[in-house]
Amino acid sequence: MKLFISADIEGTAGIADWGETSPGNSLYDNYFVKQMTKEVSSACKGALESGVSEILIKDAHDTARNLIPSELPEQARILRGWTGLPCSMMAGLDSSFDAAAMTGYHTCGASNGSPLAHTMNLDTEYIRINGELASEFMINAYFAAYQKVPVIFISGDEMICSLAKNICPHITAVPVSRGIGGASIGLHPAEAVRRIEAGMKEALSGDISKCLITLPSSFHVEVRYREHKKALFNSYFPGAETVDMKTISFTADDYMDVLKFFMFCL
Ligand SMILES: [Zn+2]
Repeated sequence: MKLFISADIEGTAGIADWGETSPGNSLYDNYFVKQMTKEVSSACKGALESGVSEILIKDAHDTARNLIPSELPEQARILRGWTGLPCSMMAGLDSSFDAAAMTGYHTCGASNGSPLAHTMNLDTEYIRINGELASEFMINAYFAAYQKVPVIFISGDEMICSLAKNICPHITAVPVSRGIGGASIGLHPAEAVRRIEAGMKEALSGDISKCLITLPSSFHVEVRYREHKKALFNSYFPGAETVDMKTISFTADDYMDVLKFFMFCL
């Protein structure tokens, strides 16, 4: 059985500030990158004890070179760096995988469930897909659905866990932090790791085919930028339309066209 894991950092237990997500910051270097790695490792451990034999981990935060490979299980392969493919944080996932999971995920832009709430980058205020605020979970889970791979597990902040349940009711969600304004309450790091391992086992003990998401038949995307000049520039992407001075839209039936729009316009 083959498992794909997309690993982010802003939903790691207790993280509360952008500095803690960036190399060169002492809390990132000495603590949060290690906790991110422990959380991914515990997800792997739960999976390996539940019949998974192959794991591909996409390091999916910022430089995409965060995880400490030597601290991950030997059965895992780690995709480091950015491929340049439209699937971005899901690079490496194809239809040969049996299941996909996300760790360290965070709530979307224009929501208040994390001090680090955003979608894809900080140039956008929000992204909507078919009227709903889009999280990185939504964008990436739709790519998994495009590959016909069920999304069985998420860990991160409480709000992204509940948003994920709206999209995929049978997903196993393990919240490890709760955002309050510019702050967060995290589980004890050891407790977070235990719950993630147990959650992954629970996810794999059920009928994982229930976690296969049905893709919408068409996609109407709206991107609201923080700066009007980005909206003007990106409004020249073929098919993009101006909604207002800071917002553009794009419509497609094929989800890959949406991902290509994101690739150039986010
Ligand atoms: Zn990130």
